[in-house]
Amino acid sequence: MEYEPVIGLEVHAQLETRSKIFCGCSTAFGEEPNTQTCPVCTGQPGSLPVVNRKAVEFAIKLGLATSCRIAPYSLFARKNYFYPDLPKGYQISMYEYPLAEEGFIEILVEREKKRIQIIRIHMEEDAGKLKHGETPESASFSFVDFNRTGVPLVEIVSGPDIRSPQEAGDYLKKLRSILQYLEICTGDMEKGTFRCDANVSVRPTGQKKFGTRTELKNMNSFRHVEKALEYEIKRQIAVLEDGEEVVQETRLWDVDQGISVSMRGKEEAHDYRYFPDPDLVPLRIDQPWVEKVRKSLPELPDQKKERFVRQYQLPEYDAEILTSTKGMANYFEESVSFFPEPKMVSNWIMGDLLRELKRDEREIDQCPVTPKHLAEMLSMIQEGTISGKIAKDVLEEMYRTGEYPVDIVKEKGWIQIQDQGEIEQVIERAMEANPKQVEDYRKGKEKIFGFFVGEVMKQTKGKANPKLVNELLKKKLK
Ligand SMILES: [Zn+2]
Repeated sequence: MEYEPVIGLEVHAQLETRSKIFCGCSTAFGEEPNTQTCPVCTGQPGSLPVVNRKAVEFAIKLGLATSCRIAPYSLFARKNYFYPDLPKGYQISMYEYPLAEEGFIEILVEREKKRIQIIRIHMEEDAGKLKHGETPESASFSFVDFNRTGVPLVEIVSGPDIRSPQEAGDYLKKLRSILQYLEICTGDMEKGTFRCDANVSVRPTGQKKFGTRTELKNMNSFRHVEKALEYEIKRQIAVLEDGEEVVQETRLWDVDQGISVSMRGKEEAHDYRYFPDPDLVPLRIDQPWVEKVRKSLPELPDQKKERFVRQYQLPEYDAEILTSTKGMANYFEESVSFFPEPKMVSNWIMGDLLRELKRDEREIDQCPVTPKHLAEMLSMIQEGTISGKIAKDVLEEMYRTGEYPVDIVKEKGWIQIQDQGEIEQVIERAMEANPKQVEDYRKGKEKIFGFFVGEVMKQTKGKANPKLVNELLKKKLK
């Protein structure tokens, strides 16, 4: 039997406000433990929370950028549970009345647009962090750091519309790029400012009813999200094929072993005894505020993509990749400003340059090849100074050393051979060394032409102008 996975994602994104969501404490990362706390965020008696206006504005921005409806009335609620990193014994979140609802994000699946629904976006506070002793003296202790307690989060809940681990990865990347374009979240999975839980189930292909789902936690990189989903889908299919049933539960992704392990039975919403927080008034967001925020939105990834298609006549696929981060889009546009052949620039960025960056796990902002250098190299190809083949080596060298392409080409002696006489000599030598092939070619075996092109390129170490080689070979072999 064929099975189909059904995936929905819950993303927690940390909003980049300077202060926490209900108090004035700093949100700066990496400070000494418990130096950024106050009576409010540590839950002392008599302290009262006050909502951070900037955090609400950021959440509205995200709601608008994902085509959600911004609720004129939303409500903070208490989600009650005990954990040592949660000093109040409850987390302030939104439950019945979230801030934004019914939006969507578009991704490309096999080069076709697909909409993933956003069911809701709500605001909440982050919990603290537990640290377990690492020295022999402290090994039997756990420590708690409340610096993160009360840092503002938005939770973005997608519909169960995702059908493969790859789609999940594409959705997450798109969501992250929207957050980064809006400059409201750094989107750093390793530092935990962008975290993802997944609801996964499988069902026989063609069946409408969803299977029993599990919730996957603890995936702290894009690669791990895809790996964990692949593992969990296979596991559930194996369970069903054994004639057993999938148990609804929360499972942890074990990064080192590459497996998911059962953590706890699935809790239901009613277990948390949500109720409206009596210390906070309802949030009323009026239309003029929403409109003001809407006007402040920057050009978003999809808008930029459409502009790239229109302005630079790029295929949609190219535009999607080039606008996937703001850094990449800027890099492309800057390169084109120096070398106005958009498709050629796009090919080199998406091909050789991204391959180098991917290998080093670098973002384009850390690329040693500047847009200006890339443009200079492309000009050298266009002018015939270097061949396209040599250019690949030049790019590698530019990436490694950060040097000017002109200097590299000079230093390595990679300038293309344009001299007709020089190429003719090489051709003659190749013909003398391979008389049998010359004869066969003249008898009509046209395929041998390619063999001679290869010989000439080999002799000139790829530096001969290919167009000239072709022309001269045709003449000589006649
Ligand atoms: Zn505080």
